[in-house]
Amino acid sequence: MIKGIFPIEKFRRLQTPFYYYDMVLLQDTLNVLKTEINKYGYQQHYAIKANANPKILALIAKNGFGADCVSGGEVQAALNAGFPAYGIVFAGVGKADWEINLGLDHDIACFNVESLAELEVINSLAEAKNKTATVALRVNPNVDAHTHAKITTGLQENKFGINLSLLNGVLDALFKMNHVRFAGLHFHIGSQITDLSAFRNLCIRANELQDELEARDIEIDHLNFGGGLAIDYFHPNRLPVPEFKDYFALFHKFVKPREGQQIHFELGRSVVGQCGSLISKVLYVKKGETKQFAILDAGFTDLIRPAMYGAYHHPENITSDEPYEIYDIVGPICESSDVFNKDIEVNKVRRNDLIAFRSAGAYGEIMASQYNCRALPKSYFSNEL
Ligand SMILES: *Cc1c(COP(=O)(O)O)cnc(C)c1O
Repeated sequence: MIKGIFPIEKFRRLQTPFYYYDMVLLQDTLNVLKTEINKYGYQQHYAIKANANPKILALIAKNGFGADCVSGGEVQAALNAGFPAYGIVFAGVGKADWEINLGLDHDIACFNVESLAELEVINSLAEAKNKTATVALRVNPNVDAHTHAKITTGLQENKFGINLSLLNGVLDALFKMNHVRFAGLHFHIGSQITDLSAFRNLCIRANELQDELEARDIEIDHLNFGGGLAIDYFHPNRLPVPEFKDYFALFHKFVKPREGQQIHFELGRSVVGQCGSLISKVLYVKKGETKQFAILDAGFTDLIRPAMYGAYHHPENITSDEPYEIYDIVGPICESSDVFNKDIEVNKVRRNDLIAFRSAGAYGEIMASQYNCRALPKSYFSNEL
């Protein structure tokens, strides 16, 4: 445990629970990402849905990355944060008309289209504006990401993308439309992928597809491999900046880009995951017959990943050096699923101690809700405290 990373005296003056972002770590992460991406001339569109806090977005935009959006609200958030429209791509299985129109009005770089039905709507909305929408087809490559079922997206049974067997038909329809321009193929097979062989399988599938389309004289400007690179939730200090080097080297080794073809990525979690922590206060220590509970003022309304995916967030009692004891660490929400950790060792807990849940920068604050009429958590930044 390295308690030194948190300004505890300053935390003591703030209302808990709140998110704390280490902006130095975020910048370090962005620097490594840039270095690895530039080695191969790849492009990265940050997946806004991982964390859309305006200050986080502003820093990522300032570093020159694009944005990957999955809703009109995210397109607007990206524009507000300073991402240029030409750096915005827009995915999602259910784009509403107003969301498509927003993208068209701003001339975003690309719509990542997930069905023939959606393609037809984009074509007609673009026609009404006398525009041509640039589109990539999101292909469901039927590659198993070997991750949690709720964050697997690239299998035939998932709702995402166009099934391989239907791709040719969708392309035939596309080439008959006058207000969409085919620019690329898009893939995103899932999230928190620790087994890099899933990405290798994706590369192989993409190469096969390229060969097939090439045989039909179809040109592909770009290949977009989505996101999904995992972070180490169990050892947040061991690898604060994820292994971008190995990840991009793998794509470099296995993808066979055509002359002038661009390769895009949409990493989210791995960019922002480790820079954020949820800070909460111990309200009570309750002794049960078989357990002792540390009851916090944070619950799944602040960080839902443990309740939703059974996810692990490493808890640290950042205000105690006393010997370890075993607790169930729980929130105040009136649901049995409001448990952060079961039978976990932390330094002995007393009322008013501060507990930090590490690796909470991705899919944390952005998923907060107001269930039980609770307030949304605030956020604080290392460079502003
Ligand atoms: C969620 C998502 C991403 C980002 O995934 P991470 O696992 O956070 O890297 C990228 N692309 C699309 C289309 C997504 O839906």
